[in-house]
Amino acid sequence: MTIAQKTSQLANQAPDIDAASRGLYIDGSWKPSHGGQTIDVVDPSTGERLTSVPDATVEDARIAIEAAAAAAPLWRATPPRKRSEILRRCFELMVERSEMLATLISMENGKALRDARGEVAYAAEFFRWNAEEAVRITGEFGIAPAGTNRIIVDYQPIGTCLLITPWNFPAAMATRKIAPALAAGCTVILKPASETPLTAYALAAIYEEAGVPPGVVNVITTSTPGPVTAEILSDPRVRKLSFTGSTGVGRHLLAEAAKHVISCSMELGGNAPFVVFDDADLEASLDGAMIAKMRNAGEACTAANRFYVQSGIYDAFAEGLSKRMAALKVGAGTDGATECGPMITSKAVEKIGHLVEESKTKGARVLCGGEAPEGPGFFYPPTVLVDVSATCEMAHEEIFGPVAPLYRFETEEEAVSRANDTEYGLAAYVYTRDVGRGLRVASALEAGMIALNRGLVSDPAAPFGGVKQSGLGREGGQHHGIAEFMEAKYIATSF
Ligand code: NAP
Repeated sequence: MTIAQKTSQLANQAPDIDAASRGLYIDGSWKPSHGGQTIDVVDPSTGERLTSVPDATVEDARIAIEAAAAAAPLWRATPPRKRSEILRRCFELMVERSEMLATLISMENGKALRDARGEVAYAAEFFRWNAEEAVRITGEFGIAPAGTNRIIVDYQPIGTCLLITPWNFPAAMATRKIAPALAAGCTVILKPASETPLTAYALAAIYEEAGVPPGVVNVITTSTPGPVTAEILSDPRVRKLSFTGSTGVGRHLLAEAAKHVISCSMELGGNAPFVVFDDADLEASLDGAMIAKMRNAGEACTAANRFYVQSGIYDAFAEGLSKRMAALKVGAGTDGATECGPMITSKAVEKIGHLVEESKTKGARVLCGGEAPEGPGFFYPPTVLVDVSATCEMAHEEIFGPVAPLYRFETEEEAVSRANDTEYGLAAYVYTRDVGRGLRVASALEAGMIALNRGLVSDPAAPFGGVKQSGLGREGGQHHGIAEFMEAKYIATSF
């Protein structure tokens, strides 16, 4: 069988969850954990166990560091064109296997297949984009102002990196780090979330097939992320931590990394405002609201968390949104008709339920949803709340579920000030037909990313990241993402 035939045969195959859980991926081979323990992976739509993956110990972490450090000299010396071609092959294989990967994501994360397909396409793009970036790394050359010497600035790979990712985008959060790291010439150890390890392992098999040499990418799952990642960060050969997850864990990891003065990129939590002015196109704002709120059933860092709607359009927006939310088909992610899948865990459902109940005690009215169904599975229905008080807990923390709370405002100043009243600053959404006002409000909002008359910001070609306690650094974008994995070396010389 030719490679092309084999590839096309594999392209449409169903995910093999046992193959995806065959071991820790270290130094190009699949290994059991030293402790012999495993972590159960659960199907959120039933609550039942899907399979298990190995539970890495501190000893396994040391082996992964050895592998990543040993592979580093050869990988950084690999010509950029060669690195680029390998990354391009990762992109192609992901596209060929997209249906298998999307199904795997739906199985372990629960998200609707349509969202999972969108994620695979987005995740693969990071390989295509960084294949193009790998051959465009340039330096600087100048003359010192005193005229005494020349200034040469060379950008070099930062070294071995620890990458830690969350469960809500099991493919994209990993490739958004791995692709630029490899393009820059770094080797990596990825620790994916315990809830969704299968996608990370399935992708590791793809990297291997694409020609990523042993040790360049290592993947380890663990139920003890604290000690395991502390061990990795304490090794002097590890020079970078790139983390995506909650602000709380991010703070802890920043403190851990500070002990060894390790460079950190942090993609943390959000509390995105979605501001609708009276002059907005109502239908367009509703379309945007559904995307901003319901992509991944609300389990996204960029999810609209607070809807600020001006008085004149408030009632029409509330009615239109609740009609659309109530019409969504809730079900298992792997069912092709599903539009809103289950939440990741029963704990997540409890948290959302608590936030909704607390808002009701402060006067919120439920237009649709508002109560979790009986099991099996971890479901919460699409919910719209009106007359929500600014003092509610949900105004200050991530809901991370399909709940849209509406707050009424009168003036532009009030909208901006209330939207900025949060420690977070990741994404924000604005709907208005007045271009001047749109740009003025976009400029005043304290967020790293603004969607103006759009419901989606994510794009591998744009710098993704937050201000305030939503993070440090950027992923993707022209040079931004790859720069996080490089260090400037300045050479002073005269001639
Ligand atoms: P999380 O609880 O912070 O976990 C994220 C990762 O950190 C997981 O791999 C987790 O491992 C690991 N971890 C937990 N405790 C750790 C410790 N003490 N030391 C080292 N690693 C540790 O976040 P999550 O619940 O998975 O994801 C949801 C959060 O991520 C939300 O706040 C969301 O806004 C944020 N997020 C941000 C972005 C962005 O780009 N800004 C994108 C997506 C998600 P275990 O799974 O084993 O606990």
